[in-house]
Amino acid sequence: MALIVQKFGGTSVGSVERIEMVAEKVKKFRENGDDIVVVVSAMSGETNRLIALAKQISDQPVPRELDVMVSTGEQVTIALLAMALIKRGVPAVSYTGNQVRILTDSAHTKARILQIDDQKLRADLKAGRVVVVAGFQGVDEHGNITTLGRGGSDTTGVALAAALKADECQIYTDVDGVYTTDPRVVPKARRLEKITFEEMLEMASLGSKVLQIRSVEFAGKYNVPLRVLHSFQEGPGTLITIDEEESMEQPIISGIAFNRDEAKLTIRGVPDNPGVAFKILGPISAANIEVDMIVQNISHDNTTDFTFTVHRNDYLNAMQVLQNTAREIGAREVIGDTDIAKVSIVGVGMRSHAGVASRMFEALAKESINIQMISTSEIKVSVVIEEKYLELAVRALHTAFELDAPARQVE
Ligand code: ADP
Ligand code: ASP
Ligand code: MG
Repeated sequence: MALIVQKFGGTSVGSVERIEMVAEKVKKFRENGDDIVVVVSAMSGETNRLIALAKQISDQPVPRELDVMVSTGEQVTIALLAMALIKRGVPAVSYTGNQVRILTDSAHTKARILQIDDQKLRADLKAGRVVVVAGFQGVDEHGNITTLGRGGSDTTGVALAAALKADECQIYTDVDGVYTTDPRVVPKARRLEKITFEEMLEMASLGSKVLQIRSVEFAGKYNVPLRVLHSFQEGPGTLITIDEEESMEQPIISGIAFNRDEAKLTIRGVPDNPGVAFKILGPISAANIEVDMIVQNISHDNTTDFTFTVHRNDYLNAMQVLQNTAREIGAREVIGDTDIAKVSIVGVGMRSHAGVASRMFEALAKESINIQMISTSEIKVSVVIEEKYLELAVRALHTAFELDAPARQVE
């Protein structure tokens, strides 16, 4: 008999019919004798709807109150799923994050889980009940409701699996596993049998939203066996593993991630003195704006250009800060661009292969796609390009690195 934590995402609980289907599925697992803890998201679109409501009141809603509100989405689905289970003769009980006591820090809208009280859950499981827990939410030490950031139900699932030492954490969603790239963008994308935590972490942080980054971090740290599966189709899904098997078939690149969430800022004609990078980025970080890629050009006539990217939500803020800096340090001008996208190739195979980056650049050159910025780490190469070429770039790279599925194997 196994203890399994199953997380069902928004589309999987997007209607009453689907919730009934999830209940049927959970019932089958129960009949096999497994203990089940289910984590659910809000019905698809609900979290967005709630956020939009708040924005009708204020552009920047008070984070504490926003959390009180958006956490209701999950409260609806846990109750509906518990009802659907009970209707089927499966004893079940639902809990909000607060009721379980999923203790988090107080960083509203992006809280981190600190501790989970597993007593109630264990007692329910022992009494033969399926426990249904609201994803995406917790409570801080003062009793305030918190939420874990978009996609946070994945993290609730993995954290519960870690706390309960579950045999597996299964993330059920609307695709049948982790693919070489987003199958909605590249129909020739292939499902991966396995992917390492390290690669999955890179993919998630570079834009593949199939798993929330923190859920992968958690799973790696606590060694939680993690699998991504389709909610309503049978299949092995994708296992996220620790081991980096040295197999002959190990491809150089495991996947391609991309994101359209960044914007680029350039400050030109900066007097090139020691400390200039700090003078430019210090005020940005003081304004609580995270910087991703950074490029500083070689200087001409003792002035240089300095470019970096930030989240698009921070663009206007960053622009203001940078304009102030430009005045202070006597830089020539500040320019910005929001129509950019970042494309990254990821793979542990890069460690043992040379020439991966140049192969990437060659593939982009063949499509006449101009590269604006480059950054590399041990297992990834990222480039910033014009947003309108994003899909073309991803497809070209998918082919160049031999990731395409054999013809006719779409879906
Ligand atoms: P859920 O609501 O179940 O949490 P998400 O929408 O958060 O589902 O995540 C699933 C989606 O992630 C898929 O529909 C797919 O479009 C997208 N996705 C992005 N990159 C990948 C990838 N490499 N493999 C699989 N899905 C991906
Ligand atoms: N409902 C939340 C969101 O839409 C959390 C989740 O689905 O994981 O981001
Ligand atoms: Mg998700």
